[in-house]
Amino acid sequence: ARKFFVGGNFKMNGSKASIKEIVEQLNAADIPDSAEVVISPPALYVHWAEKHLTNDKVKIAAQNAFPKASGAYTGEISASQIKDVGADWVILGHSERRTIIKESDEFVAEKTVHALENDLGVILCIGELLEERQNGETVEVCTRQLKPVVEAVKDWSKIVVAYEPVWAIGTGLAATPEDAQETHAAIRKYLSEKIGEQADGVRILYGGSVNGKNAHTFNDCPDIDGYLVGGASLKPEFLDIIKSRS
Ligand code: 13P
Repeated sequence: ARKFFVGGNFKMNGSKASIKEIVEQLNAADIPDSAEVVISPPALYVHWAEKHLTNDKVKIAAQNAFPKASGAYTGEISASQIKDVGADWVILGHSERRTIIKESDEFVAEKTVHALENDLGVILCIGELLEERQNGETVEVCTRQLKPVVEAVKDWSKIVVAYEPVWAIGTGLAATPEDAQETHAAIRKYLSEKIGEQADGVRILYGGSVNGKNAHTFNDCPDIDGYLVGGASLKPEFLDIIKSRS
């Protein structure tokens, strides 16, 4: 069985005070054993979050990593540095990096390989733009984004895929459970064609306007193994999402 996974992507939000408060709320929370929880503060606050975190059911992710160990790459951070300050995961290929920073599918795959080699778990984000959905290209876009990763990575045990349709991110308009399940099933089918039986064990998260009220509506979707949460991960309702399957 695939363990329920909830990621909190803080994006470029927060301060020492607000991140400490979120971590302290999670320290005090009764997190079900059936849930795996990962929070992702901005890189500057990864160490700060780790310093205050006492609940060993919660792990930390960075939001990006450069695919080199060290060197003359001003402004970038490496997988080994992320590990060094206490994070176990990294989010890669988020749509905001693909669209705003113009990261290519190949670059995201290169980052994924490097992060895995450095023993980080990877939350690999994929998903289509509104225009691509309207053109019926949803599955095509997701498989195009996955292709360089399936070609480069043999062991998928440390990858969690996050399907985040760009039109649902930060809009308050989550995908319907039916639409999300249909895409998740197509993603799993593609993975099983490329990586075989391992695909049965890969968690596929849904992301895009998940909140404390709608999380449970995805509970009956067999291929939705958790959520990657943006805005609601900064609020107390994050705990409602964490508890939504128990
Ligand atoms: P929202 O939950 O704010 O829509 O963001 C989703 C997301 O991009 C998580 O990575």
